[in-house]
Formats: sequence, structure tokens, C-alpha cells
Amino acid sequence: MQLSTMTKPKRHSSKERQRVPTRSCVGCGERTEQRELVRIVLGPDGGLLPDLGGGAFGRGAWVHVSPSCFKKAAQRGFARSFRTAVDCDLPVLFALLADGADRRIAGLLSAAVSARHAATGADAAKDAVIGGKSELCIVARDAAATATLDYVQRCIADGRAIAWGTKQILGLACGRDEIAIVALLDNRLGREIRRAEMISRLGGMSAQPMEDR
Ligand SMILES: [Zn+2]
Repeated sequence: MQLSTMTKPKRHSSKERQRVPTRSCVGCGERTEQRELVRIVLGPDGGLLPDLGGGAFGRGAWVHVSPSCFKKAAQRGFARSFRTAVDCDLPVLFALLADGADRRIAGLLSAAVSARHAATGADAAKDAVIGGKSELCIVARDAAATATLDYVQRCIADGRAIAWGTKQILGLACGRDEIAIVALLDNRLGREIRRAEMISRLGGMSAQPMEDR
């Protein structure tokens, strides 16, 4: 086999692939992998609450991370799923989702740093990316200069980079002052953060068009 035919490392272990949980989106009705959906529960006061960990008690309704699916769910899906009239204020729900997702990303980053699964700062991140160890780079939104660096541009082109937070917020999550970039070295954490970042973006995109999901 030639070197050029080498394949990328496997994304999922065979165990993970065996039984992937699926759910139906209460917006569009499509059945899909659970991790592409977000769980919404009915709070004690009748309001809707995001359950980003997926483990809250009570009946849950699953929705694609997409404004159009949330709009459909608000029109009919939630009421049908919870079998009661639901007062759904979408901007409020989006804000709760964004807030919860941002806190989840910060928590996952903090866990990644503690477990030495993160290379923080431009030099360490560059080494990780060039060494092929980085699954995902998180670039602070106010780190414009860092985003133009060659290795970061390559990550963006490969779909291995996301923009999130500010240098200060990224630093805070990693127990440092300010950080422009973090390279994640762990596949599972990378997937979790990528998912949370999609949910975080819901908060800011209720008023604007977006790519599907
Ligand atoms: Zn849907």
C-alpha cells in the first residue's frame, strides 16, 4: 500500500457504531441519531427548558438543532408531544439553549485541560495540529490575527475549527488569562463541543437564515 492511500483514523469504534440511539424530531418528524437532536423538557411552571445533558427527569421532546424545526415544534410538535397546550416563547428558549450550551462548552474545555486533552495557546495548538493530534480547534471570536494563521486556516478548511467565545472566556474556561486558540486532542470531547457549539449558535440565529441544521 502506498503512503498516499493511507486512510484517516477511524472516527467511531465498532462498539459505538453497533447501536446508535435514534429519536424522532418533534419539528420535522424525521427519525435521526439522538446526538443530532436536542432534548427539551416541560418545566414545573409549564415553560420549556433545554436538557443538554439528556438526563433530566420527565417527558422530553427531541428537536433538530435548527430554527425551522424549532418553529414547527413550537407550532404543534411540543403540544402534541407533551399532550398539553405549551406556551413556547422561541426567543426565550433559544437564549436558554445558547446559555446552557456555552456553559457546557466551558465545562468540557475545563475537563479537557484537566485531563491534558487540550493544547492551549497558539504555540501548543500549532504543534498539536501539525503533529496530527488535534481533533478540533476552538478559536476565540476576537482572535482575528490567530484565525489568519496558516495552520488555523487549514483547520477551518478541513472543518476542524470552530469560533467560540472571546479570548477572555476561552482563557477562563482553561484556567488561564486570555487564550486565542485551544486544540482539542480528544475525539469524544471534540464531538461534544462541536455539538454544543451548534446549539449555542441557535441563540444568535433565530433572526437570520442559516445553513441547514
Ligand atoms: Zn427536525
